[in-house]
Amino acid sequence: MQYQPTPAERIPLITAAMRAFHNTGVTRPQAYRRQALTALRDSLRKHEEELLAAMHVDMRKPRFEAYMSDVGLVHAEIAHALRDLDEWMRVEHVPTPVSIQPASSAVHREPLGVVLIIAPWNYPALLLLSPLIGAIAAGNCAVVKPSHETPNTAVVLERILADAFVPGHVAVVNGPGGTIGPALIEHFRFDHIFFTGSSAVGAKIMAMAAHTLTPVTLEMGGKSPAVVDHKVNVRQAATRVAWSKYLNAGQTCIATDHALVHQSVLEEFVEELGRAIHRFYGDDPQRSPHFARLVNAKRFAVVKAYLAEGRVRIGGPSDEDDLYVAPTVLTDMALDSMCMREEIFGPVLPVLPWNEREEVLDAVRRVPFPLAAYVFSTDKGVQEYFTQRIHAGGMCINHGMLQFGNPQLPFGGVGTSGMGRYHGKRTFDLFSHHKGVVTASTIIDHGLQYPPYSKGKLRVLRWALG
Ligand code: NAD
Repeated sequence: MQYQPTPAERIPLITAAMRAFHNTGVTRPQAYRRQALTALRDSLRKHEEELLAAMHVDMRKPRFEAYMSDVGLVHAEIAHALRDLDEWMRVEHVPTPVSIQPASSAVHREPLGVVLIIAPWNYPALLLLSPLIGAIAAGNCAVVKPSHETPNTAVVLERILADAFVPGHVAVVNGPGGTIGPALIEHFRFDHIFFTGSSAVGAKIMAMAAHTLTPVTLEMGGKSPAVVDHKVNVRQAATRVAWSKYLNAGQTCIATDHALVHQSVLEEFVEELGRAIHRFYGDDPQRSPHFARLVNAKRFAVVKAYLAEGRVRIGGPSDEDDLYVAPTVLTDMALDSMCMREEIFGPVLPVLPWNEREEVLDAVRRVPFPLAAYVFSTDKGVQEYFTQRIHAGGMCINHGMLQFGNPQLPFGGVGTSGMGRYHGKRTFDLFSHHKGVVTASTIIDHGLQYPPYSKGKLRVLRWALG
């Protein structure tokens, strides 16, 4: 049998071919970028059934959720890029200060070159392909690494990309992140690394990238609170919090991690959570086709351990063979318990009371830098108070997670939840070098800046510089 190189052994060949391909300039014209985006759209449609089925095998992701919060959003990003690419690529003319006149000035957006995109498993197509769309739209070549935690999905993604792109343009490297990641970063200087995943791995990526001064974008997680005021429609708020918690079994970077609920409505809120969970998943959520599973046994063990850290008010059952933890609501946790210190990333919702607004701020500051924060209140003053004071990557008022769905909004973390922001045009800009270019007049040369310098020249200079 012919020798097959391992993914790690293929890396130098892939990256060298990609650099050569990019150097030809073939990815620069708008027509090439459009054709590539269209090919990705078509390939995604062609393999859609396989992809949805693979996600179901890997984590029992309900079909509707897989389309609503993953595959469908990829199509929305492609459509947006195809619609606006012409405008994004246009040279941007900017004013020229009098001090360097006569001249004109413009910003040219150029491809960065060969970029690396590393994705997590929880929204495996979206978090791989959404940055890729911006990278291609900006004229780059890309190596992409899906997560090995969802192996069936990773194989289908590889097929989708192999059908859509020539190997020098986009290549997939599959394998365990702990070995393939360093092999990629340490053996080739990428022009940018776009990473989505945990803060712990994000720190490793940044350290590896530092050796070659490779710029990074890090999209990570955090402990995202839902703050529920007493001036609120409790049933509606509980329904929306439940949705933003239990979608994908809580394995969403912008999921509500825990709820901080005004003491006066806390009991009613917990009751309404119970009703919402029942409406969503019926008498036995384990038998509901609408409820996902934890991704692996390791995550199951971590999430199950949280169940013992508070008083179980709703849910509680778990089944290791099925990687199932019921949609659960906890109260009475200690603030130093693990579920109040770590990002939960599972279907367990701790609910804590507050009376004064400052208590909310104290609770958020205990585990700073949430990726998202949600405020439920009909009082504009309360909405504004928390919007101005909670330092989070993004926010949504009176709902959960909707901020992700608008490509006009920047998406990204703050502090330890992320570095850099993307979606829509911002992804294109992120993967572009913004080159400032001044074009001087060849007709007039006033010579103000040349020696010999004189008092008269200095006077003009002072006036010109303001
Ligand atoms: P993870 O950090 O374990 O893995 C992410 C990716 O990094 C995977 O492809 C993995 O194989 C790879 N990887 C692992 N070790 C590596 C190394 N040493 N070098 C290079 N690559 C390596 O994260 P995960 O468990 O897949 O995802 C869950 C985390 O991701 C949560 O913290 C969640 O909040 C976060 N997340 C953030 C966003 C966001 O948009 N900000 C979105 C989804 C998930």
